[in-house]
Amino acid sequence: MRLIFLGAPGSGKGTQAAILAKSQGIPQISTGDILRKAVKEGTELGQKAQEIMKRGDLVPDDIILELIRERLAETDCKSGYILDGFPRTLEQAKGLDRMLGDKGIQAAVLFEVQSATLVGRITSRRVCVDCGETYNLITDPPPPDGICLRCGGKVIHRQDDTEETVSNRLAVYEAKTAPLIEFYEKKNKLFRIDGEAPVEHVRDQLFTLMRRLGS
Ligand code: AMP
Repeated sequence: MRLIFLGAPGSGKGTQAAILAKSQGIPQISTGDILRKAVKEGTELGQKAQEIMKRGDLVPDDIILELIRERLAETDCKSGYILDGFPRTLEQAKGLDRMLGDKGIQAAVLFEVQSATLVGRITSRRVCVDCGETYNLITDPPPPDGICLRCGGKVIHRQDDTEETVSNRLAVYEAKTAPLIEFYEKKNKLFRIDGEAPVEHVRDQLFTLMRRLGS
């Protein structure tokens, strides 16, 4: 199963990718998580990406494509994967097609959420720096001591989840990533999910879709 999860920041694609990846025993490949790890470790990639991410802009396509090429070559990707937050530009989508050749991806799943909902979700999101577990101040608050329930790591407010950066991230999504909807629609690979619903309902829609796709 080779899937792309598409959607604006805060659309819930990361949460749903984690759920499906666990149930199917395949990796969730989040370029955002890979980049955040590189920033935390202070690697060359991290140093290049840090300021770009803080502004909510996109890291250059060639860097992202190389990172994906290396990740997809790892053995845990043999029986499939969920790409979460990649591709984000037409150039990345075309690069992925070139990389995969005939086998291509099976489906691009689009999580549709209105922008008013997105802003609220992103600014109230909190994440664990170690395992990436997400919390929401309103619907699923982190423990008062700020320690992650899953791994004991520190739960933080991401620097790019602030109100100042969110509007740029949403504008970047509209300008650079939304054109991918038509790109995958033309290939008959686009499947839409109503991402406004509570997590469990979105999960149910996703599992129904997976059964339809035959996995
Ligand atoms: P995310 O965790 O997916 O919201 O990504 C956080 C930030 O990482 C984005 O705002 C971008 O700066 C960067 N990023 C993540 N994935 C990509 C990608 N596929 N292409 C370019 N930049 C990315």
